[in-house]
Amino acid sequence: FYATSIKKERSRFSRHGFLFVFRDRTEEQKMDHVKDELISTVSHELRTPLSSILGFMELLRYRQPTPEKTTRYVEIVHEEAKRLTNLLNDFLDIQRMEGGKQDYAFKPFSLRQLLEETIETFGETAETHTIHAVTDDDPILIFADEDKVKQVIINLLSNAIKYSPAADHIDVRLEKTADQAILSVTDYGIGIPPTAFDKLFTKFYRVDNSAVRKIGGTGLGLAICKEIIESHGGAISVESELNQGSTFTIVLELDPRKDFEKK
Ligand code: ADP
Repeated sequence: FYATSIKKERSRFSRHGFLFVFRDRTEEQKMDHVKDELISTVSHELRTPLSSILGFMELLRYRQPTPEKTTRYVEIVHEEAKRLTNLLNDFLDIQRMEGGKQDYAFKPFSLRQLLEETIETFGETAETHTIHAVTDDDPILIFADEDKVKQVIINLLSNAIKYSPAADHIDVRLEKTADQAILSVTDYGIGIPPTAFDKLFTKFYRVDNSAVRKIGGTGLGLAICKEIIESHGGAISVESELNQGSTFTIVLELDPRKDFEKK
């Protein structure tokens, strides 16, 4: 706290007193910091895909490339436009979540089935890595928002691939205990320094080293994952060793309704 102004009180009640006005600057400073980070992230993350889109559109428009090159350029433009959409969705998600305006549509479903379907569709787009999955025989029934849980899985899979550029596969494991589902995604990539563990799930945080800087990102994905998992009463955690790899684990309660499990 600090006094921003000291005004001489000239009211009719007191002719000689002073009025001290206090303002909490910590919250304001925090907000300023968030705003600065938002602006620098947005400008950097928007600029890269936009300049790539503009560049390739110009090549297509003025250079009459060969059909092979045309196909490749259109693919890149499509990829970059998708990146922009994802980025925008991340910003909207985090804003909705922070405003407490995120609605969750809970329903019973099989986490194993969702995981298998997600890996199947996601795996098709992952050209550089194979996804090895080990799942329990059980359907692993949970009561949750299926789209949101899928979003978490996709975030963890994309990070695992993104941050292990020299590896060729990632491992996914799904198992259950008496009352919990445990899903982990392991990569053999750049790893995370232990000093970063507690900041990893806060928005805009990115590990500050050259390996991470080379790889684009907003620092929003894990904050969104944490928000979603905690809104389900679950937990998300990380284990990692620098230059060896990382494992992200989510734990969710199994659907407690016995009658549903019998169906
Ligand atoms: P982004 O990937 O867009 O930067 P995230 O919120 O998904 O944002 O991740 C935050 C930070 O955590 C990343 O910038 C990176 O430093 C680190 N990180 C996340 N996943 C991994 C991983 N699998 N391996 C190494 N570092 C990771």
